[in-house]
Amino acid sequence: MNKKSIRDVDVKGKRCLVRVDFNVPMKNGKITDETRINGALPTIQYLIDNGAKVILCSHMGKPHNVLTVGFALNKKEMKQIEAQETRSAQQELRCYFHQEAIKDKEKYSLRPVAEKLSEKLGKEVKFAADVVGAYADRAVANMKDGDVVLLENTRFEAGEEKRDEALCKKLASYCDIYVNDAFGTAHRSHATTAAIAEYGFVDTAVCGFLIEKELSVMADALENPVRPFVAILGGAKVADKLKVISNLLEKCDTLIIGGGMAYTFLKAQGYEVGTSLVDDEQIGYCKEMMQKAKDLGKKLLLPVDANVTKDFPNPIDAVVECKEYAIDAIPADEQGLDIGSKTAAMFAEEVKNAKTVIWNGPMGVFENPIFAKGTIAVAKALAETEATTIIGGGDSAAAVTQLGFADKMTHISTGGGASLELFEGKKLPGIECLNNK
Ligand code: AMP
Repeated sequence: MNKKSIRDVDVKGKRCLVRVDFNVPMKNGKITDETRINGALPTIQYLIDNGAKVILCSHMGKPHNVLTVGFALNKKEMKQIEAQETRSAQQELRCYFHQEAIKDKEKYSLRPVAEKLSEKLGKEVKFAADVVGAYADRAVANMKDGDVVLLENTRFEAGEEKRDEALCKKLASYCDIYVNDAFGTAHRSHATTAAIAEYGFVDTAVCGFLIEKELSVMADALENPVRPFVAILGGAKVADKLKVISNLLEKCDTLIIGGGMAYTFLKAQGYEVGTSLVDDEQIGYCKEMMQKAKDLGKKLLLPVDANVTKDFPNPIDAVVECKEYAIDAIPADEQGLDIGSKTAAMFAEEVKNAKTVIWNGPMGVFENPIFAKGTIAVAKALAETEATTIIGGGDSAAAVTQLGFADKMTHISTGGGASLELFEGKKLPGIECLNNK
């Protein structure tokens, strides 16, 4: 990789502003999955051990941030409005947003993460109750070498997503070195994910170990794969993965397409696919891709059979009747919700002969055990191979983890959106903004 990492700079005594991905799932104020916190630990521990002052920042969820954009009310205004017998529509709206923003301040606070992180590091992580306000100022000013401070949710600042210059400048004043280790948001260009370095407010901008690992594994597989290189794509819609399909066709030897997106390809081949998910607007595109595969001499594998049902299960995990059909025999009033057993065996065989495999997107409606068999078969094939196996985050990562195959994979990406953009061949702003080696 041509970008500098924390290993390439002297961090001793330096204030390091580290953008991490602490966007963890929460239920009733409790963290329900600590994977993202664990992913950031090697970088944080390295910085502590090397005498840096570690200032952590992250977003969490999508809070209302009207309190910070001038729509808010202070307590006195709120009381005045409450005392009135009638309120204008504008006042109603301001009261509503005020209440929502107050609720969100608690719901999306990073305070529980600071507590969890203290436990994991075995040392106090000071929590600043704002991002660039008086609490943050004080916490940063009082830091000693090896101390760790976590700032409050960056999305409480309206300027975060708007790449606000003043916000970037203020954050830059807290640090000597900017470290990006949030792979999950590396495809976003927000204040703390890229703009702070892009504007040139920090002289030194480097990546942490998580980004370094994600890039070295995925970029390496894409640029210098050990062949045969098999790419597996699934999930709902073709339209979401147009560029991914086109780019991967150029890089891989075999492209396997399963999941809902396969039906648009099958329709483009002239099959009747009943009421299966088809995007008529993309039929031309699918034809183009099939031609591209032919021209490049690449193998493009599509399902040969499907597990079919009449009505989409509601709720999604409801028990419904299903039957397996060859792809040319799907009844007109039924839809394919999983690949069939012949297809699963064919895909697994292709994986068996591969030396590098990347996978993004489930093979069917895996949320329902009846339609999870294809996804399980592919996950199992990846778990059993000696090949380099890379799971591109999102649903396929969840499926592999739930099935207990996580430690059998070479790499499971922590960023679904970011890894898809890498597969598209795009440059990620959170990485482009960093110093070159
Ligand atoms: P994506 O976010 O594009 O990776 O899509 C994941 C979603 O695709 C999952 O929620 C699956 O239930 C859905 N999906 C997979 N296969 C099918 C299918 N054959 N028909 C409808 N939805 C599907």
